[in-house]
Amino acid sequence: MSALHEIYGWREFSHMTKRLYYDQPGLLKFESVVEETGTGSGGSPQEARPALILRESAFYPTSGGQIHDMGWVTVGGERVRVAEVVDAEDGRVVHYLEGPTKSAIAPGTPVRGEIDAERRRDHMQQHTGQHVLSAAFIELYQMTTVSFHMGDDYCSIDLSTPAITAAQVVGAEKRANEIVFENRPVTIRYVRRDEAEKLGLRKLPPAERDELRLIEVADFDLSACGGTHVNATGEIGAILLRKTEKTRQGTRVEFVCGGRAVASARRDYSTLTEAASLFSAKPVDVPEIIRKTFDVLKILHREKDEALEQLAGAMANADLAGLSGDRKIAVRVFSDHDVAFAKLFAQKAVRAGVGIIALVASTMIPPGVVFAQTPGATADMGALLREALAAVGGRGGGSRDFAQGGLPAGCDAEKLLREAATKIG
Ligand SMILES: [Zn+2]
Repeated sequence: MSALHEIYGWREFSHMTKRLYYDQPGLLKFESVVEETGTGSGGSPQEARPALILRESAFYPTSGGQIHDMGWVTVGGERVRVAEVVDAEDGRVVHYLEGPTKSAIAPGTPVRGEIDAERRRDHMQQHTGQHVLSAAFIELYQMTTVSFHMGDDYCSIDLSTPAITAAQVVGAEKRANEIVFENRPVTIRYVRRDEAEKLGLRKLPPAERDELRLIEVADFDLSACGGTHVNATGEIGAILLRKTEKTRQGTRVEFVCGGRAVASARRDYSTLTEAASLFSAKPVDVPEIIRKTFDVLKILHREKDEALEQLAGAMANADLAGLSGDRKIAVRVFSDHDVAFAKLFAQKAVRAGVGIIALVASTMIPPGVVFAQTPGATADMGALLREALAAVGGRGGGSRDFAQGGLPAGCDAEKLLREAATKIG
């Protein structure tokens, strides 16, 4: 109910908090009286915080996509931070204080309220920017906005369209900024529902309200809304569209307005400049340089693989040349090559002739072992490896001709291979 309340702009009943921001969205200081006090959890159930309900308030409570104001109340001689403002189901506005007041506050105590101006301005920029952006998407592409989200860093709207092109994003952004540059007036008015139906609102609320609060961007957008808005579109500042993504219902478009647009452009520029300086290049050349770097990396990887294969082959041949007898058993522990290289070495060795067995290990992290024989030879590499590893607590296995496994840290690989070699009949 409270969300609908704000989106569709109810006028309050007498027992509700009088919302000063409805008619004076620029009001940042106000005088009022405490109607009720209490404690509540507000948005964070783990901590109970003192709460005040005032006769009237300029504090905007979270609703209709817009997040709440913060600020201060001066009550009973103390100035206390207002940490969160919530729209109660019954239309009262609840002000949660950052901490308890030193003395108890009785109903009837006068209160001075003060809105955090910077935060409020940011919210007005984002929210009015959203109205302009949503209207631009309708005007250009007939894409309607089904929801609006305002976060601490960025905002988003969900459009009822299965897809959006990059050109449409740029087009809507351009049109929205034109409306900003024209500095069109943004006005508030109240109409009866039957009048509203004839006015062609961007979105008509459900038929349960008699009176609607309308926000009008002159000759561009008219919608029912309870939020706080700037007086003219120029105050929105730049509207910058960011990421788009598919959602279950349609397409989400992230955007930032005003101060947030400047901050995010600054952040992007710093990131890009840092990336460019790593290449001693201009920011505009970064994508092309990264593309070329990937191409070079691909070639280097291929060349490295080829070189390692040649090295493994040459080392295997050299080891085999030093062995004599019918059955050649090459035993080799690598401390400066990984287990993938050990495997390469073993494969090269067993393919170099007939009846060759290679017992190879790498002590690089993670340490591993490879047993291989020329295909069809008479030993059983799988059984030999399992037996050798069982003695040291390693794991592995394989077939008659090829087996591999992992060695526990600190295992004497040289000894393990030598012992395995003596077991070959
Ligand atoms: Zn709105």
